Amino acid sequence: MLNDIDAVSLEDYNAPMVYGSDLKLLVSRRAIALTIKRLADLVRDDYKGQNPLLLGVLKGSFIFLSDLVRQLDFKLEVDFVCCRSYTATQSNGKVEMTLHPRSSLRGRHILLVEDIVDTGLTTRYLLDYIRIHDSASVKLCALLDKPSRRREVVDIDYLGFTVPDKFIVGYGLDCAEQYRNLAGLYTMEQRDNTS
Ligand code: 5GP
Repeated sequence: MLNDIDAVSLEDYNAPMVYGSDLKLLVSRRAIALTIKRLADLVRDDYKGQNPLLLGVLKGSFIFLSDLVRQLDFKLEVDFVCCRSYTATQSNGKVEMTLHPRSSLRGRHILLVEDIVDTGLTTRYLLDYIRIHDSASVKLCALLDKPSRRREVVDIDYLGFTVPDKFIVGYGLDCAEQYRNLAGLYTMEQRDNTS
């Protein structure tokens, strides 16, 4: 029987058979699990005893955040934000927050949890939002960094993987709301990364 996070699992290979050969495995579920353990160790060292607020960016970070917090054995809180970005249609890259955090950020140690930092516009917007709401501190944890299209300088305090200039799906990341349920991370070979 396959262990839950054993090697490259059958599901890692099955996804292209279900969804088409356009999908290429980039990061297996085992590699993701090991990386989350590594990130959790760093986050624990820095935040234990501080009751941090982990702020997940919907929808893409929902699986990453849920796996990360289950590796953290100390008091913490979780909240969510959601942003819409107009980067595809507007050269100024306007970002709008469509879901605000319900918790007060004032005086809190905030760890922003992102699925992917691409242009950096969303992350920059959120980091500024958190700072102007009088947080005690703010750091960034991102599963993926795609530096090739960066427009804003963003320091990632806890990073999972640096990825190529391709469109990525799986493990919470979507294409037209599909693929979020895949356990691994995949590149979509035929999809234009800029759209
Ligand atoms: P930004 O360009 O502002 O850094 O990223 C905004 C959002 O675009 C990300 O949070 C993510 O939801 C989405 N995004 C950017 N690159 C990718 C990608 O390769 N795959 C998927 N599925 N979403 C992406």
